[in-house]
Amino acid sequence: MTQKPGPWRITFDTNPDDCNLQCIMCEEHSIYSTCQTRRKQEGRPRRRMDIQLIRKILEEAKGTPLREIIPSTMGEPLLFRHFESIIDLCHEFDVKMNLTTNGTFPKHGATKWAEKIVPIGSDVKISWNGATKKTSELIMIGSNFEQRVQNIKDFIQVRDAIAKEGGNFCRVTFQLTFVELGIEEIPAVVKLAASLGVNRVKGHHLWVFTKEMENESMRRSLQAIRKWNAIARLAHETAEKYRLPDGKKVLLENIYELDEHATTELLPEGVCPFLGEEAWVSAKGRFNPCCAPDEDRKKLGDFGTLENQSIEDVWSSKKYQNLRNNYLQNDVCKKCNMRKKMNDLTRSRHAAELETV
Ligand code: SF4
Ligand code: SF4
Repeated sequence: MTQKPGPWRITFDTNPDDCNLQCIMCEEHSIYSTCQTRRKQEGRPRRRMDIQLIRKILEEAKGTPLREIIPSTMGEPLLFRHFESIIDLCHEFDVKMNLTTNGTFPKHGATKWAEKIVPIGSDVKISWNGATKKTSELIMIGSNFEQRVQNIKDFIQVRDAIAKEGGNFCRVTFQLTFVELGIEEIPAVVKLAASLGVNRVKGHHLWVFTKEMENESMRRSLQAIRKWNAIARLAHETAEKYRLPDGKKVLLENIYELDEHATTELLPEGVCPFLGEEAWVSAKGRFNPCCAPDEDRKKLGDFGTLENQSIEDVWSSKKYQNLRNNYLQNDVCKKCNMRKKMNDLTRSRHAAELETV
């Protein structure tokens, strides 16, 4: 039977206004961001997704390539009131969950969450921005380094026990945002990952939202790019030297040397990894073509809401197809931090296919 068109993965922005940390680089919750104070002043309620919308979209996506969903990557998804219902939906619709969490494991603690998440998890990305208490807590304000390390140990203990009994293997990843404040500790983060059994260290360059963060981008100057390139080389040497308990190498993603002109464009030859592949749905149901900051991605077009149209309708629409074919004419896409080399993209798609086998 031929498949219906649609994304292989959907991110649901379930609860972007809820977080228990205030990371310095965060668009919504940073100590430097005014987003949440403005929301309160304007009397806007917190955005929270209706769980029935997720069910509707999963129903409509039957017969499409959809095989994985991501609960909110803005805000802490484990604070979402219906998070456990999303786990139930993953079981019901036979889709995997790819989770990004800040590693505090609120409400139930790491062990209990692992028992619920690992059986349907493809990858759990834990935000990680330093190898020392000082740096980690300066970047992820409100977090406790020792507690988060313990949480990783507890989570991985359950992950390994489930895999040993022949259950699902859920990869664990450290998810970084590359900022000047933490850059020198990246090789030590790789070493820490290896010692804890964290399979992958992944990151992305900073989207600058506030003037306080302008000097934190590793793309801000030639000098910063050269510093980044030296660290990227060292991170790969570290991954080679310090292995996971099973002897495998920690996988490094998006940690590569930049062209010295990357202050304006990250990868001039880079392509969009998301168009035609993945979709994002806002808390209110709006279809978004990618994970660019909200004000930027609105400039890519208005694709309407999935409350009154199916994902297949949007995917096949002229407007979406036009964006797919012409995105590089758009300023947001020209400057985008997410574009990848075609080779890397083919490799990561292939890896994603293997994971679902
Ligand atoms: S944990 Fe995520 S959502 Fe929360 S403040 Fe940090 S970056 Fe923002
Ligand atoms: S901004 Fe453009 S290039 Fe970047 S992820 Fe979005 S659609 Fe793709």
